[in-house]
Amino acid sequence: MTHAIHPAGYWLFIAIQDVPDPNKPETWTFQLQCTWRKPDDPAGEVRSNGFLEKGDDEFITDLDIYKARAETFGEPFKSAVLWMPEGTKLYSNRLSYWVPRPWDTKNGRIAMLGDAAHPMTFQRGQGLNHGIADASVLTQLLAAVKAGKKTQEGAVKEYMDEMVERAGEEVRISMENTDMLHDWKRMSQSAIMQRGGDPNEKKTKKEEEKAEPNKVDGSVGDKTVNP
Ligand SMILES: Cc1cc2nc3c(=O)[nH]c(=O)nc-3n(C[C@H](O)[C@H](O)[C@H](O)COP(=O)(O)OP(=O)(O)OC[C@H]3O[C@@H](n4cnc5c(N)ncnc54)[C@H](O)[C@@H]3O)c2cc1C
Repeated sequence: MTHAIHPAGYWLFIAIQDVPDPNKPETWTFQLQCTWRKPDDPAGEVRSNGFLEKGDDEFITDLDIYKARAETFGEPFKSAVLWMPEGTKLYSNRLSYWVPRPWDTKNGRIAMLGDAAHPMTFQRGQGLNHGIADASVLTQLLAAVKAGKKTQEGAVKEYMDEMVERAGEEVRISMENTDMLHDWKRMSQSAIMQRGGDPNEKKTKKEEEKAEPNKVDGSVGDKTVNP
């Protein structure tokens, strides 16, 4: 999986879906995604420098328009789009989310897990992780019910309270992250853009801290970056 942001406010994503023959990349299937703010979103217009215009509704499903826009993408996103075969069908969706809140469990007979409970924007890639955490927490609580240590009503309520707080926080963080990824100005000031994603950075930072214990976190040279 690889992803990128575009100065005009696009977030770009490529993921491998299927690898029938590892030695023949031409047999692999990829999923390409592009997200952007709605053109009628005032923040979208301001941040996109006019790149997102009227006609974006067509961009959603028109391969020619998508390819024209992709001329400005960096690699490998540009080629990945330009090489899409004629007739490839594009699918569109609007990102949506909701913050989970407590519900009537009907005496512990109704529980909600996964995206049904806490759909979140996907750029941070945390939806499934929380779905697995939901299942893990609830399973352990139900095991306690089976062992006679808890009532079913109490166990499901305990699960609900834990999930609403944990996943609710993630829904909010994910939305914040999605918002930032479509805002070039903000993103360009982030730590990842200012410092990069060097896998050795941790070691270097630790070494730096050892050498300069009073150095302020988040500073690059004479510039201070946002966390
Ligand atoms: C592009 C993208 C990238 C992502 N990347 C990550 C990532 O890196 N890490 C991560 O943790 N999460 C990621 N996620 C989120 C993750 O995919 C979801 O959180 C997860 O799939 C949710 O699982 P779920 O079982 O709750 O719901 P779903 O996967 O939506 O499963 C629900 C199922 O119910 C079926 N269904 C619906 N209605 C009915 C009905 N009436 N009767 C019977 N069946 C029905 C649906 O067909 C579906 O199969 C990503 C999501 C997207 C879109």
